[in-house]
Amino acid sequence: MLRRTCAGSMSIRLTLFFLLAVMLTGCTGAAGTGTLSPEELSGTDGSANPLQGAPQWRMGSNTGILAGAGVNIATVRPLQQKVGAGFYLGGGLQYIYDRLPVHRDALQTLDTLLLLNITAEDVAKLAEWPQRDRNLLPPALEDLVRYEPPFAYLARQGGRVRGIVVGRTTEEIERLLSVMVERSVPLGVPWTVKPVIVAAEPSSRSWTRKTLERGRFLASYPPELERDAERMLAWAEDVLGKLRVHFPEVDEVVNEPVTLWLHGAGELQPGYAYAEPSAATLHFTAPSAAGGSSYDQTWYVGNIAHEYSHVFFDRIRRRAGGYGMDANAGGPPRWFHEGLGEYFRLLVIGEQTFDRVYGQRYNTPVSFLLQSPLEAAEDVYAAGALALRFLHARVGVEGIRRILMSSQPTFWGAVQEATGLTRTEFDQAFRDWLRRVR
Ligand SMILES: [Zn+2]
Repeated sequence: MLRRTCAGSMSIRLTLFFLLAVMLTGCTGAAGTGTLSPEELSGTDGSANPLQGAPQWRMGSNTGILAGAGVNIATVRPLQQKVGAGFYLGGGLQYIYDRLPVHRDALQTLDTLLLLNITAEDVAKLAEWPQRDRNLLPPALEDLVRYEPPFAYLARQGGRVRGIVVGRTTEEIERLLSVMVERSVPLGVPWTVKPVIVAAEPSSRSWTRKTLERGRFLASYPPELERDAERMLAWAEDVLGKLRVHFPEVDEVVNEPVTLWLHGAGELQPGYAYAEPSAATLHFTAPSAAGGSSYDQTWYVGNIAHEYSHVFFDRIRRRAGGYGMDANAGGPPRWFHEGLGEYFRLLVIGEQTFDRVYGQRYNTPVSFLLQSPLEAAEDVYAAGALALRFLHARVGVEGIRRILMSSQPTFWGAVQEATGLTRTEFDQAFRDWLRRVR
């Protein structure tokens, strides 16, 4: 497991970005053969250099890229396009986990690179990487904790190259990727690139962020997105007002301002938003930077409610005592987290709108769930949404609140306390409800 590295402050990271144009010596404009010359394999000399003699690999059209949060798609894509690599899946580790079932067959036939920004993504989440897709990651990942980011590590496994690129900023990751686009890089040894001094270039975008506070929320945004920030803050206050009706303790439980972190175009996977519950931060593409008609007010309001639920649930569990968040130690399963998020969405946008917009997708797993346990469902949002509506039909908001706030030592203990159903009875009653209502 990779260690959690202390995040530098935003200003330090940005300053570094502008002060250092970090490149492999001789990388640009080098007429070379596309492999590293002995001089370029510098750092140590001769046979003592661990890179010396390592097999080489170069990014090609059969390379697929998987990206965690905090990696700018808009700048990574052009690098991929240079070598004709078309496959990109990312916007967060959870986003990848949710979609691996769909893309696993394609990915098995590609070389894969996982891009990990360790200041944006909790690397402990790598432990949740699905076991059956473990071979998409390089072997011996645990050994990499000894190395200082940024670095890349690629290894051959089962006939394909599996790599990871670790950085503290998207720029660090892009730099390592540019090297792989330009030339061959070592396999089987972690490697990095060293800075050289070059003239700074004028900035094409503003790099300071502004903040705006309103009520219980704080918006963090690039200056040109001020109107977006105001809109988002108004929507967020509206969402909170609606949630308060059902969860009157919400302000007491989430007693710090929640940050709405607005991203520019291309920074997040289309249609994707995410929460960092421990930092009480919700990430969205700014409305004016989001293309496509699906990003309407219903989308934003619903997603603010969904992401807010993750912060609310996290804070409630810290206060309640009893079960924790680890699903392997009696904590709630993933479908409950996402189902709760969808339930918050429903409470805020209303049942009619919810069914109109999401009804089709969210009814898809019904026949599967009549046969299989909730934990086996691939779409945890849809399965969770159904399960929470069952709970609502059975015990109402009040019962769901009791599950959230319970001091029972396990999640299922809390469910039993609130519903009177054991796990087996819950499954049975859920299926009866599905058959009746869906
Ligand atoms: Zn969620």
